[in-house]
Amino acid sequence: MRPFFYFKKGRSMKFLDEAKIFIKSGNGGPGAVSFRREKFIEFGGPDGGNGGRGGDVLLEVCNNLNTLIDFRYQQHFKAKNGMQGMGRERSGPKGKDVLIKVPVGTQILAEDKETILYDLTTVGEKITLLKGGDGGFGNTHFKSSVNRAPRRAGPGWPGEEMWIWLRLKLIADAGLVGLPNAGKSTFLSIVSKAKPKIADYPFTTLHPNLGVIKYHEHSFVIADIPGLIKGAHQGIGLGTRFLGHVERCAVLIHLIDGTDEAYLQSYQTIREELEKYGGDLIDRPELIVLNKIDALDEKEKLKRKKDLEALSGKKVYLLSAISQKGVDTLLGATWQAIKKNKKENIEEELTEEFVP
Ligand code: GDP
Ligand code: MG
Repeated sequence: MRPFFYFKKGRSMKFLDEAKIFIKSGNGGPGAVSFRREKFIEFGGPDGGNGGRGGDVLLEVCNNLNTLIDFRYQQHFKAKNGMQGMGRERSGPKGKDVLIKVPVGTQILAEDKETILYDLTTVGEKITLLKGGDGGFGNTHFKSSVNRAPRRAGPGWPGEEMWIWLRLKLIADAGLVGLPNAGKSTFLSIVSKAKPKIADYPFTTLHPNLGVIKYHEHSFVIADIPGLIKGAHQGIGLGTRFLGHVERCAVLIHLIDGTDEAYLQSYQTIREELEKYGGDLIDRPELIVLNKIDALDEKEKLKRKKDLEALSGKKVYLLSAISQKGVDTLLGATWQAIKKNKKENIEEELTEEFVP
């Protein structure tokens, strides 16, 4: 799969996450052939119940997902079959449904990858993709004046199955900023390492600057914003193009090279570029991270952390991207910040025309 991306207003990049999955609803259970057996009735009539309905394939739009990363791990979703009917006109139990959770903004396409079946824009929205097959009739149903003791029952109706595509426009939830060499690429490659069970399953290869993060049952997107140097806001380096990208991020992760003697200055340089770029970038929630702590002794590490906290007035996180120390804490804090600051305008954005 090749990655899709496009530029909106010539500035911010968008990426597409895609997954192809197989869905199947349950078959209906067969009806039962059964006759009443009671003490004082010599020839009991038929009392076979109907089979249970097969389970449905349901889809629900969830708040805590921002990507389709879960579909790298599972591509087959099958509901359970209905159970067989029973005597005394009892129906078989219905097969268990299967529930697929997708993020808001997911589009469901037919196997042709063109026909849009659903456009899911509301959190909590729940749809039935496939209905389970009906259960077969029990022999009670076949009783008539000419056949008062039918020995036949109906088989269940089969469920339905199909392949569908899920498609989602990825929006960077968090932007990674920092001077060159701060460790942004290293951090991103470590946190976005997905380990699919089926290695060759077709799945959109993401742009190297975009990391899809799975954090417990949540998922979100971090974008690496390279080229932030002094003068970036004036278009020096890759400056404005990538600053445009970060405009959409709810949260900034500001990485600082802890081994750089000028750590305070490097923090300020980035803050100045963000401020000069305008908008409300400077006011965006910011997680400040002192990276490469593996290369610092205990005393120096704490001193630099304290200095940065005094300068910024914010909490500073400690990280060693290389040894993965502090990664989990930072991802947890990032998710909390994203959740708190999730952009309200997401719906408006999703209805904009898609330009491949
Ligand atoms: P970027 O320019 O911000 O993307 O920085 P890179 O990820 O390319 O990293 C720059 C250099 O710092 C590379 O040589 C990395 O190996 C090194 N580096 C990144 N993270 C760490 C870390 O946690 N500890 C140490 N000691 N080095 C790191
Ligand atoms: Mg880099």
